[in-house]
Amino acid sequence: MKQDDLKPYHTIIIGTGLAGLTTACLLAGANKKVLLVAQGAGALLLASGAIDVLGYHPADSREPVHNPAQKLPDFLAERPEHPFCLVGPEQIRAGLEAFLSLVKGRLDYQGSLERNWLLPGPAGVGHPTCLAPVSLANGDLNTRGRMLVIGFDELRDFYPALISQNLNEQKLGVQVAALTIDAPWPIAGKMNVTPIELARAFEQPEFRQQVVKAVKSASRGYGRVGFPAVLGLERHAEVMADLQRGLGKVVFEVSTLPPSVPGRRLFDALQSVFLAAGGRLLIGSKVVDGVIENGRVQQIRLETASRLKPVVAENYVLATGGIFGGGIQTDGEGKVWEPIFDLPVIAEADRHQWFEPKFLSAGDQPIANYGVKVNRQLNPVDESGMPLAKNLFVTGATLAGSNWIVGRTGDGVALATAATVVATIVDRISRAA
Ligand SMILES: Cc1cc2nc3c(=O)[nH]c(=O)nc-3n(C[C@H](O)[C@H](O)[C@H](O)COP(=O)(O)OP(=O)(O)OC[C@H]3O[C@@H](n4cnc5c(N)ncnc54)[C@H](O)[C@@H]3O)c2cc1C
Repeated sequence: MKQDDLKPYHTIIIGTGLAGLTTACLLAGANKKVLLVAQGAGALLLASGAIDVLGYHPADSREPVHNPAQKLPDFLAERPEHPFCLVGPEQIRAGLEAFLSLVKGRLDYQGSLERNWLLPGPAGVGHPTCLAPVSLANGDLNTRGRMLVIGFDELRDFYPALISQNLNEQKLGVQVAALTIDAPWPIAGKMNVTPIELARAFEQPEFRQQVVKAVKSASRGYGRVGFPAVLGLERHAEVMADLQRGLGKVVFEVSTLPPSVPGRRLFDALQSVFLAAGGRLLIGSKVVDGVIENGRVQQIRLETASRLKPVVAENYVLATGGIFGGGIQTDGEGKVWEPIFDLPVIAEADRHQWFEPKFLSAGDQPIANYGVKVNRQLNPVDESGMPLAKNLFVTGATLAGSNWIVGRTGDGVALATAATVVATIVDRISRAA
C-alpha cells in the first residue's frame, strides 16, 4: 500500500458532467487527492461537444449573440438570479481558460469569449457557441461559400436534405447542398446505426477510402464538405486529416442527435487528464446520502456491490446536474428536493406553476430554474442566507437559476462555477498555510 492511500481525500466530487470533471481535473492537477464518483456519465454524452456561454440574448431573440463578452453585462443585469451573477465575469473567463488548458494537446478546441461560432445543427438551425473543436468550427456559418453536407442511409436521425433546406432558407450567405450515400462495409445495409458505431467504422482506413471514393466527384465545386459528427473517437485527428487529404477540401462535422461523438471525445479527454493527474474515478456508484453536522459535511455514503460505503474528505463538491442529471428530484405532489443532503431548493411548491402553458415558450419554463440556493462561495445556504456547510460547494446545473435553455449558458455555468470552487478551495488552503 502506498503512503498516499492512507491519507483522507482532500475533495470528493459527485458527478462526471462538465462541472464535476472540470473541478476534478483542476484540483487533481493542483496535487490534491481527489475522488470523483458518479452514477452515470452526465450530459456531455448527450450535448453537442461545443461549449456554450451565451448564445441568445434577450431570451426571446432569434438573433444569435455574436460577441458573448459584449452581451454579458446586459444578461447579468437582466437575470440577477443566474449563477453567472454570483461568480462574475472574471470567473466566466477563468473557466474557459482553465478548460482550454486542460484539453490542450488532446483536443483542439478553438474560440474565445469575444466571438461565437455559428455551427450548423442537425435540424439545419445555427447553433451559436463559444468554443468548439476544430472539426465543428470548420463548419462555421459566418464563413460564406458553398458547402456539401453528407449523410448515410444507415445512420438514424440525420437528414442532409433537411439541414440544407433549412440553412438555405435562412439566407446566411452559405449555399448548402445535400448528398446521402450508402455507408461502406461493415456498416452497409444495417438499420438504425448509432453515431458511435459509425465513428468506430471511420477509424478503419479502408472505410474512409470508400467514403472518399463515394463523395469525391460530387464534392467538386464546394469549398467545404460536412459529415455527421462521427469522424472517429480515439483516432479523430487521423480521420480528419485523412478525409481532408483524400477529398482535397476542408472537412467539418455537423452535430447529431444523441449519443454525441464530440461529447464522448470530450468526456474521454477530461477523464484521461484526471486519471493522469492521479485522481481516483468511480463511475456506476450512486451517492445515497451525506451527513451535515456542526456546519460541515462529515461523510457521504455510496452504493457498492455489497453495502453502503461511508467516504470522508475535507471538501465535497456537488456536481449532480439538475432535473436531467438526477441532482434535483420532483414528484407528482409538487415536491422538489436535492436528494443527497436534502439542501434547500428554490422551487415553486404548486406544481401547476412549474410549466408555461405554451411548451415552446420563448421565455423560461419555471421548472428549468429550480435548484440549490447558494452564496458567492457556492456554499449551500438556508432561507436567511447562512451557509449550511462551509466545506460543501455546489456547481453546474444543480444551482438555482441555471436554466441552460434560455440564453444557452449551461456549459459556461459549469466551467465558471468549477473555476470558482477551485479558486475558493485553493485560496482557503494558501491562507491557512
Ligand atoms: C440533452 C441535453 C442537451 C443539452 N444541450 C445544451 C446546449 O446545447 N447548451 C448548453 O449550454 N447546455 C446544454 N445542456 C446542459 C449542459 O450540458 C449542462 O448544463 C452542463 O453540461 C453541466 O452539466 P453538469 O455537470 O452540471 O451536470 P450533468 O452533466 O447533468 O452531470 C450530472 C452528473 O451527476 C451524476 N449524479 C447525479 N446524481 C448522482 C448521485 N446521487 N450519485 C452519484 N452521481 C450522481 C450523474 O450521473 C452525472 O454524472 C444540455 C443538457 C442535456 C441533458
